[in-house]
Amino acid sequence: MAYIEMKNSYKRYQVGDTEIIANNDVNFEIEKGELVMILGASGAGKSTVLNILGGMDTNDEGQVLIDGVDISTFDEKQLTYYRRDDVGFVFQFYNLVPNLTAKENVELAAEIVKDAQDAEEALKAVGLERRMNNFPSQLSGGEQQRVGIVRAMIAEPMTLLMDEPFSALDAISRKQLQELTKALHNEFKMTTIFVTHDTDEALKLADRIAVLKDGEIQQVATPSEILAHPATAFVAELFKGGAVHA
Ligand code: ADP
Ligand code: MG
Repeated sequence: MAYIEMKNSYKRYQVGDTEIIANNDVNFEIEKGELVMILGASGAGKSTVLNILGGMDTNDEGQVLIDGVDISTFDEKQLTYYRRDDVGFVFQFYNLVPNLTAKENVELAAEIVKDAQDAEEALKAVGLERRMNNFPSQLSGGEQQRVGIVRAMIAEPMTLLMDEPFSALDAISRKQLQELTKALHNEFKMTTIFVTHDTDEALKLADRIAVLKDGEIQQVATPSEILAHPATAFVAELFKGGAVHA
């Protein structure tokens, strides 16, 4: 049994008299310790998948098995505990508390758990030793997202969920943060699901890539498998000219 299994998952929205199928029979499995990139265009249904996995949203049909337990049957209270105890989130727009310093933002997340690492040590480890006492408004986007990553990881959640975390950053900061993500993943092997619309980013970071189009999974495979054997014409076009990074 894989650590995470999404089975025949559907999510539909009714907007006026049109039905939008945000997730249309989504199936995939994720092993413990994997870094899986969910790749797709805007509107493909990526955030819907991530929010359902994180217990922030619920599907209409299908199973969401986390370590064999179907969280799609959870009530609000169970979902609240699940989000608090088992999941760390990193969002595109950082979502730091503006009137708390970098260190206080991390401590706030650390307080709710017993065995969180020391906030200062964790901030030092991502290059923020001289930024501990700055407020978010005094930090660059890249620095704020470093705090965001530390905050999400400090409680050592079972799963780390990242939704286009570097999309708002300049190219240099993005590259640095991608390298940091890879290094942290190699060190801690936290099961990570990372949403992106950037094919190159997916190739750079992924153990495996799940390609999503119009709410449907097109292929789930390693970067080299996808490049060698794209499952659909869409995937072939998306990865044309792509290369596996060393
Ligand atoms: P992505 O993250 O890949 O850009 P989303 O998962 O956010 O895509 O959305 C998938 C589809 O579902 C889109 O067409 C989006 O407009 C629609 N959608 C998402 N949330 C809602 C909502 N609350 N109400 C109506 N439609 C929604
Ligand atoms: Mg999204």
